[in-house]
Amino acid sequence: MQLNGKVALITGAASGIGKRIAEVYAQAGAAVAIADINLDAARKAADEIAAAGGKAIGVAMDVTSEAAVDAGTQAVVDAFGQLDILVSNAGIQIVAPLVDYSYADWKKMQAIHVDGAFLTTRAALRHMYPGDRGGTVIYMGSVHSHEASPLKSAYVAAKHALLGLARVLAKEGAAHNVRAHVICPGFVRTPLVDKQIPEQAQELGISEEEVVRRVMLGGTVDGVFTTVDDVAQTALFLAAFPSAALTGQSFVVSHGWYMQ
Ligand code: NAD
Repeated sequence: MQLNGKVALITGAASGIGKRIAEVYAQAGAAVAIADINLDAARKAADEIAAAGGKAIGVAMDVTSEAAVDAGTQAVVDAFGQLDILVSNAGIQIVAPLVDYSYADWKKMQAIHVDGAFLTTRAALRHMYPGDRGGTVIYMGSVHSHEASPLKSAYVAAKHALLGLARVLAKEGAAHNVRAHVICPGFVRTPLVDKQIPEQAQELGISEEEVVRRVMLGGTVDGVFTTVDDVAQTALFLAAFPSAALTGQSFVVSHGWYMQ
């Protein structure tokens, strides 16, 4: 029970990677808040954790809304009394060639990935800084925090931005015992990735099987997808790590695709 007595807020935790992190954190003893734009799915995920003996609530939160982030974070502290871990994970993907990328889609991508990371960080720090009680902030980056791929201009730019944010927080937060990290997964089979397979096949003029084999897994050492559990176990290790020996770093979890 490495997270006994801790409270974690995880955005985008009604599905995919965030959902698995919430489950693993709850199994490790944390009280978890599943914050998502889809409140019904967040409540369902929280109910599943509670049914398995964990402590969880679903919280409505659109991470692009300053008011929703501040109110949702306050609701978590009202429910559980404190906040120790933020996992800024909510995300979407919109693929298109740069020359055709709509400005509205570009702004939507930056709003969710970058503005959302900023807003949730600021709201969390307001509960972590008092008394220097501290905490851990984990951003869900990607191999695309380090590497580029065609069709993903907005995503690659946004995921690179998270490295900068985490490094600033590592420096500013140190005096208050706050640490920051970026986890950088390779491709994980979640709804976000399943949606992209036919879209990329059409844009690149190749089969869906080739998208998986060449585009998604071509850079790995073994042609294997990363799993939600691989990412969640990394998030558990970082949240439970006992000192600031680890802060301001990024951790690539990708079957060898992009070696730092
Ligand atoms: P997913 O689609 O399974 O889950 C994303 C969740 O975010 C959903 O529950 C959705 O409702 C929520 N969400 C979307 N917009 C939101 C908003 N404005 N406010 C709050 N919640 C919102 O996706 P996933 O694959 O689990 O992705 C989670 C994170 O992991 C994303 O940041 C993604 O970029 C990153 N990531 C995913 C992969 C992958 O291969 N799946 C790889 C690297 C990084």
